[in-house]
Formats: sequence, structure tokens, C-alpha cells
Amino acid sequence: LQSGVERLGEMIAGARVIVPFTGAGISTECGIPDFRSPGGIWTRNRPIPFDEFVASQEARDESWRRRFAMEEVFAAAKPGRGHRALASLYRAGKVPAVITQNIDNLHQASGFAGEHVIELHGNTTYARCIGCGQAYPLDWVRHRFDGDGFAPNCTGCDEPVKTATISFGQIMPDDEMRRATALSQACDLFIAIGSSLVVWPAAGFPMMAKNAGARLVIINREPTEQDDIADLVIHDDIGEALGPFVAN
Ligand code: NAD
Repeated sequence: LQSGVERLGEMIAGARVIVPFTGAGISTECGIPDFRSPGGIWTRNRPIPFDEFVASQEARDESWRRRFAMEEVFAAAKPGRGHRALASLYRAGKVPAVITQNIDNLHQASGFAGEHVIELHGNTTYARCIGCGQAYPLDWVRHRFDGDGFAPNCTGCDEPVKTATISFGQIMPDDEMRRATALSQACDLFIAIGSSLVVWPAAGFPMMAKNAGARLVIINREPTEQDDIADLVIHDDIGEALGPFVAN
């Protein structure tokens, strides 16, 4: 009997344009917990919605305290086998770009050029003013927070500074949504990796690719709600499933 990984190998070999779509599951082997698995971030902390962040200094302080508490985890994380496999396919010219829900910068660290990582939910390795968009290094925020005892506002427009991520209730980035849509419709193989496929609108891309004629592969150690529309489902650890595709 042919294994899922062998079947995936054939699909990859036969594909012209492969678009990977990644969620938090690709980074768990790098030490970054996901949201929904046992031990995931949400089993400990309720997410702070965007309107609460905007309205309350207390919410902003709490949000930044949580981010600083995660700093060692993010700073120490290195790309895993899944990231490296995708970077190998990118270098081989099979993958034009990766669409990701992740905010951890690990696709860039694995060798993708920044413009080829479509970050639907932003990036947590730097900060932005929510008013004018001015970018700030996290160290700047930390320094101000430690000095003043509360989360800082923008030095230019005095609006709050937030990690450069998309919170619940915050509008999705236009350009990223457009590019992710175009890629999903242009590929002939779409691989959804380590996403619970329940956070919308991001979770709409696998179906969009499928409707545009691509074959759909889902890799997740748990069943997802979209397994029944996939051409191949691999219920395994991502490192195990994608490890064979890491080029040396
Ligand atoms: P999620 O936590 O909802 O789902 C992760 C999925 O990956 C789960 O279905 C789980 O079964 C699977 N999984 C976890 N480890 C795996 C492994 N080693 N092998 C195979 N499957 C594995 O995360 P999501 O779907 O990405 O969406 C929720 C939001 O979480 C995203 O918007 C993202 O911004 C945010 N998030 C990002 C990070 C990160 O950047 N690394 C971490 C936590 C949350």
C-alpha cells in the first residue's frame, strides 16, 4: 500500500506551481505552542480582541506583558523540518511564495525572501503604531514599558503601538489578501499544513484553490473540518510528513 508521504511525493513531482498554506502546527516542533492543541496558548490565556486593545491601557499593558513573556521562545526558535522542506521547494522553483497564518518569522528564517512570505496575520517580531503604521523594534517598546510602567504610544501621532500582528476584530491586510487569493487560484497543488482551518477568512483559501482546479493536500495530526474536500489527507506529525522533502 502506498503511504501518504509517497503519494505527496508524486503530487509534488507532478505539480507545476505549489502553494503551501501554513498554520501554527508547523512551528510547534520549534518550541512555539499553537493556539488550540492541549497546552496551546488559549488553554492559558483568552485572546485580547482589537477593540479592547484600542480602548484600554490595561489591555495594552497585559498584551505587551504576554508578548514579553514569550520573547525567549520566539527568539530561540529555529526553522523546523516543515519550514526547511518548503524552503527547499522554493529554492527549486516549485513554490513561488508561502501563505501563512503564522506570525513567528520562521519562513523568512528558513530562506524565503520577505516578499515571498504572505503574512495574513502579520508578524510578532516587531511593532507598529495602529494609527500611522510607523514600525518600531520590540526593544524600543520594552525599554519604554520598563521606564514608564505602561505600554507606549507612537512618538509621532500618539496612538497605541502594538505588535505588527492582526488581532481578532482587526481588519485583514488588503494587499496580503489579494496576493493570497491570486496564488490560491493560480496553483495546481495547494498544501494546507498545521492549520486547524477554522480561523476565517484565512481558512477560505484551501477551498478557493480547490474550486479553481488545484489538488488539495491537508497535513495535520488531527482531523480538520475540511478533510473531506481534500484529495489527500496526511494525519501525521508535520516534521515526519515533510522531513523527506528537505534538500541537503
Ligand atoms: P491552531 O492553533 O488553531 O491550529 C494548529 C493546528 O496544527 C492544529 O489543528 C493541530 O492539530 C496542528 N498541529 C500542531 N502541531 C502539529 C504537528 N507537529 N504536526 C501536525 N499537526 C500539528 O493555529 P492556526 O490554525 O494557525 O490558527 C490560529 C491562529 O494562531 C493564527 O491566526 C496564527 O496567527 C496564530 N498563531 C501563530 C503562531 C505562530 O506564529 N507560530 C502560534 C500560535 C498561534
